[in-house]
Amino acid sequence: MVGDRDVLVIYDERMLDHRPDMQQPFLDGRLNGRIRNVLDGLGLEAKWSYPEHPGRVTTVYDLLQAEPVAGTRLEAGRAATEDELARVHTTSYIENINELRGQQAWLDIDTTAVSPGSVEAAEVAAGSCIKAVDAVCGGMAGSAFVICRPPGHHANAVRARGFCLYNNIAVAAAHAQAGWDCERVLIIDWDAHHGNGTQDIFAADPSVLFFDTHRAAPFYPGTGLLEEVGDGLGEGTVVNVPLPDDTGDLAMVRAFRDILVPAAAWFQPDLILVSCGLDAHRSELCMNLSFEGFSALTGIVQKLADDYCDGRLVMALEGGYNPDTVARGVHTILEVMAGGEPAEPSEPGLTEVMEISEFHRSAFAQMDD
Ligand SMILES: [Zn+2]
Repeated sequence: MVGDRDVLVIYDERMLDHRPDMQQPFLDGRLNGRIRNVLDGLGLEAKWSYPEHPGRVTTVYDLLQAEPVAGTRLEAGRAATEDELARVHTTSYIENINELRGQQAWLDIDTTAVSPGSVEAAEVAAGSCIKAVDAVCGGMAGSAFVICRPPGHHANAVRARGFCLYNNIAVAAAHAQAGWDCERVLIIDWDAHHGNGTQDIFAADPSVLFFDTHRAAPFYPGTGLLEEVGDGLGEGTVVNVPLPDDTGDLAMVRAFRDILVPAAAWFQPDLILVSCGLDAHRSELCMNLSFEGFSALTGIVQKLADDYCDGRLVMALEGGYNPDTVARGVHTILEVMAGGEPAEPSEPGLTEVMEISEFHRSAFAQMDD
């Protein structure tokens, strides 16, 4: 039941100081164009502004205060050092980012901007994932969830992209390998967007298995094709599952059971990391999952961690731009990590149809009498 397991949740207010100018509209980028198309189609009069804002995580914090999840405890994070970042990013890239400290700038036309507090926020996001790995691998926590921002999975070794500065999950994986006895790390990315940066960083590394379900290209960032299976020595350790936009709970659970579970059995990971985006939830207009779907996926991943890694599991927040969805999604996931029973999703509406048909059936039975 919820509370049976011990889950460390990391939240740090320094990550709120990443505040790209909300009043400035997006530069013309592909994501902007696509979202505008969706909004235009809905007939909304929306002034578009930077969607990766502090409210995404304050809402999570507020919900966890209002509805605490038994078994979880909250701690502040820490900043990553340059050496820790340099395990996956080039030193010249880190220098370029450092020069932006205290500035307001568009970093990349691909939707990434910074404000004066952004560089420290990005260091704390990555460092908090390191702290989570240390807690789980050091036996101080059963599992951990990092409520981090800016997100990380679109950033590769040399470039910020898609709201991401440093690749938090990649920094965490490299730290687990350098600092702990984790030879093989499994990274699961269930964000609606392909984790192109994470794939780039580990594509040729056979010690990291990267499994990614996402809405298929040409959806942003346009990568994650089935044929992308890793490079060189890493061939076979990239597993992409590109899916249509109406993919829901049942299909996603099937992908995890039929593809991820045997892949994990083959790989025998020492640690499991999850790039936990909530934007595959149907309210985000990218894919069609429900909260029950996320609950079920968490159950599958937790079982893999129990089977292969003594339960060692770290999740880090990626995307999700409707704050209420992010908050309820994280809450749902934490309940399962803390020992709650995962949901068994069904076709939307099926339960209701069965109940309603029961209601009508009795009416018709009376008429027969
Ligand atoms: Zn995303």
